[in-house]
Amino acid sequence: MRTKLFMIKEDESSEEALREAGKCLREGGLVAFPTETVYGLGGDAMNPSSARKIYEAKGRPSDNPLIVHIYRWEDIYGVASRVPGEARIIADAFWPGPLTMILPRADCVPRETTGGLDTVAVRMPSHPAARKLIEYAGGFVAAPSANASGKPSPTKAQYVLEDMDGRIDMILDGGEVGIGLESTIIDLTVTPPQILRPGYVTREMLTETLGRVEVDATILRSDSGQAPKAPGMKYRHYAPKGELTIVAGPMDAVVDYINRQAVMQMAKGEKVGVIGTSEALPLYRADLVKSVGSRLDEVGIGKRLYTILREFDDEGATCIYSEAFSTGGYGQAIMNRLLKAAGHRVVTVGSQGKVSEYVCQMPDKGFG
Ligand code: AMP
Ligand code: MG
Repeated sequence: MRTKLFMIKEDESSEEALREAGKCLREGGLVAFPTETVYGLGGDAMNPSSARKIYEAKGRPSDNPLIVHIYRWEDIYGVASRVPGEARIIADAFWPGPLTMILPRADCVPRETTGGLDTVAVRMPSHPAARKLIEYAGGFVAAPSANASGKPSPTKAQYVLEDMDGRIDMILDGGEVGIGLESTIIDLTVTPPQILRPGYVTREMLTETLGRVEVDATILRSDSGQAPKAPGMKYRHYAPKGELTIVAGPMDAVVDYINRQAVMQMAKGEKVGVIGTSEALPLYRADLVKSVGSRLDEVGIGKRLYTILREFDDEGATCIYSEAFSTGGYGQAIMNRLLKAAGHRVVTVGSQGKVSEYVCQMPDKGFG
């Protein structure tokens, strides 16, 4: 299969490509498209064979459900058998935007799309091209992230092309995405509602809107003894090719530890990469030192994270160290993705520079 690539701009010139892409989806094809979170790999959500093609193109296990994307509120009734009052409240506050709701599945949604579940994930994205594409496709586009399974979600069309060339019909290139981490997922089939995946819409924002909201215990811990409720969260996603270790503790101790490890690893022939904040960046000594942005700008950190992981893959980093980030607010989403990329490998260093432990989970709070 030859994969067609179209540039998408926010003006009339993209209309033709969007209509062609919509037609392709209606006919059972696959189209990767930009959203405000990451690039999605779209198929017709109501067509079981489209869902099967998505799993195949990504190399994704078929028990890992897809998110159904809609472009207008009323279509929620087309995919959910029951729409609780909370759905309307958070849609008013956060849709269109980076928030996915889990609702009871309507019979017309194929089980292939929901990974065999009786619930369905629904999102209304805000990206203008995504919205038009969904409309032209007939209103319901099933889309996971457009990466090959196990790779970081794509923040740029070039990464979609790397993973999907020859495997899908079309890629719409809308430039770099705005957010860079996948949507927040909230389960509205339980009381109180539960966050299954943290994202740009934070727990604090949802609590303010809905009142009590819980967080799935597996989000930041690998030792909670529970299976994650969002099936995708159980897989080791977002994994770079190099072995990634997160180093937590006071900044000077973190820098000192990483530099000493880097010397040792480089002497062994490893190619060492460091993910650092701009505040500490000049202090690192390693083969590849990359700034994830300022510690004060969490939105910027979220936006850079996957791109840096991909760059390390491209540049052949075999051993990667990253600073740790705060786990409150949006930091929860950043640390969730970083922990998964690191297979929950965290080193905690003390203020005297001594390594106090080698742990496999993050405490709930306290990393700055
Ligand atoms: P992706 O956008 O690639 O992360 O894929 C969508 C993710 O949404 C999956 O990995 C699941 O974790 C989650 N998801 C989709 N549908 C459901 C559902 N019905 N219940 C819980 N989680 C879901
Ligand atoms: Mg994904």
